[in-house]
Amino acid sequence: MFLIVFGAPGVGKGTQAKILSERLNIPHISTGDILRQAVADASELGLKAKKIMDSGELVPDSLMISLIKENFSNPKSAKGFILDGFPRTVAQAASLDNLMNELKMNNVLIIYLTANEDEIVKRLTQRLACSECKSIFSLSEIIEPDVCPNCGALNGLYHRNDDKEDVIRNRIEVFKSATLPVLNYFELNNKKIFEIDGLGAIEDIAVEILDAVEKFAKEKVVT
Ligand SMILES: [Zn+2]
Repeated sequence: MFLIVFGAPGVGKGTQAKILSERLNIPHISTGDILRQAVADASELGLKAKKIMDSGELVPDSLMISLIKENFSNPKSAKGFILDGFPRTVAQAASLDNLMNELKMNNVLIIYLTANEDEIVKRLTQRLACSECKSIFSLSEIIEPDVCPNCGALNGLYHRNDDKEDVIRNRIEVFKSATLPVLNYFELNNKKIFEIDGLGAIEDIAVEILDAVEKFAKEKVVT
């Protein structure tokens, strides 16, 4: 079972991917983690990526696909994975599709978390980050004011520049123009897409997704 969690920034892709990974017992692959891991391992591709990132450039698609391929080849990913944060463009989707065909990964389900734009902006502008452990929290996760729920640091919570309204609006515009066409690409290539409102209660959404995954798995067994 190969799941791709798709949706606008701030819709909760990472949160759902993490829950799905635990309940389905298949690895959660985020491109950020892949990059960090490759750099930490100082693999050939990792060193290449580090050099590019250190110069302030974006890691090119070809390199990102190579890193993903390396990760897919890991025995841990053989039974399935949950991909989060990729693809972000139609070109990336096409490369990924080719790679999955090459590796005979057929059972691909796209989970599309939809969201009202103003709700996303509200959610993200209210987020706080911890200056000590770098964790990010929504307001509802903060139990005591000015105390990090993760590491307990005092007075370390702050609003990140990335979470300013104009920055978020801009990221949403980029998503709509560059990333949203990916859905159309997947549809044209006969991929199954499960759409769900990403802004409800986290557990309710997880249950509905798991239900859809189960149905999808059964259909695949029958056909
Ligand atoms: Zn902290």
